[in-house]
Amino acid sequence: MKTINDFNFDNKKALIRVDFNVPLDAEFNVTDINRIEAAKPTIIKVLEDGGSAILMSHLGRPKGERNSDMSLKHICDKVSEVIGVQVKFVEDCVGEVAEQAVANLKSGEVLLLENLRYYSEETSGDKEFAEKLSKLGDVYVNDAFGTAHRAHASTTVVAQFFGENKCFGSLLAKEIESIDKVMQTGDKPVTAILGGSKVSSKITIIENILDKVDHLIIGGGMTYTFIKAQGGKVGNSICEDDKMELALDILKQAKAKGVEVHIPVDVLAADDFNKDANTQVVDVKAIPDGWEGLDAGPKTLENFKEVILKSKTILWNGPVGVFEIETFANGTISIGNFIDEATQNGAFSLVGGGDSVAAVKQFGFENKVSYVSTGGGAMLESLEGKTLPGIAAIAG
Ligand code: AMP
Repeated sequence: MKTINDFNFDNKKALIRVDFNVPLDAEFNVTDINRIEAAKPTIIKVLEDGGSAILMSHLGRPKGERNSDMSLKHICDKVSEVIGVQVKFVEDCVGEVAEQAVANLKSGEVLLLENLRYYSEETSGDKEFAEKLSKLGDVYVNDAFGTAHRAHASTTVVAQFFGENKCFGSLLAKEIESIDKVMQTGDKPVTAILGGSKVSSKITIIENILDKVDHLIIGGGMTYTFIKAQGGKVGNSICEDDKMELALDILKQAKAKGVEVHIPVDVLAADDFNKDANTQVVDVKAIPDGWEGLDAGPKTLENFKEVILKSKTILWNGPVGVFEIETFANGTISIGNFIDEATQNGAFSLVGGGDSVAAVKQFGFENKVSYVSTGGGAMLESLEGKTLPGIAAIAG
């Protein structure tokens, strides 16, 4: 894996694909600087070597048309503030104006290009457009994990014009390393905690992960498809009847592969889907009619705790309850606490993919786990075992 640390950027122009698709308020102020901060180490490395950085990104979905609401000029001052260098801005990302701005750029300087998605050629992965982009740098650096699962011009196609002069930025390298730890190189026992609402949206991940883990914890809404398939009564709980056979097959596959599967034994059931509903802890296999399981119960959490605390590598994807509603957030918070404890004891923990990242941020676990992935879709596709085009374009 070639990273920026394998290059000396002295007098070189680095064309860096970053993910600056940041949220803006009505006055076009950046309301979350996480993604800018995440790209900072890569930019600083280039500048400290004596090179210059040309930053390219998309913002929103302008769908191939110029739209000043989605201009990257709005974020230029914020980027300058975060990286501590006055960033220059150019109103195009290809063509003469952009090429001139790059030609004027000196070592130690940073240039931000206009929104890539003003051109539909970006998302269609157009080769000629990618070639135009490639004229803007000596070395191509991809540091945008959030778009690494897309074969777009700036994330994938452009790499072919750089020969050996291409590499991963430090953020993308960290993402790849973290996924590799869970999938290949991590210390055993390896545990995956999969929650969320549906078996159908997680099935490819489950099937892929069965070859990699020692323990599989299943929680959240997925639970009830497994329980009903095994003959339990799930009341009004979310359940995919057409996936029951699949659930039984997963359990069979797990057994054949020596993976221990841990499913809830008790749940917090409610008589309504809101915070003021009546609740009771019940056996997961005997949920009364009119009640639905919305969070993990205390015995379940004890069992999960034991597994998590003996794990050396932990992946967490998906909440184990309806964490958005306070009444049903305890299970998900508890899982965060167990992972925190395991991490303090030396385990490697990765949180990634959609709602678990939201939960981790909401409950303040961000700095208590080893790594929180920055890419939702890209992370899910990695866990499904897919090779991401943006990564393949550099790793070969
Ligand atoms: P996913 O996007 O598949 O990871 O699902 C995340 C969603 O699953 C969250 O919005 C949770 O509220 C929801 N969820 C978790 N547990 C349950 C449950 N027992 N019943 C219904 N929804 C749940």
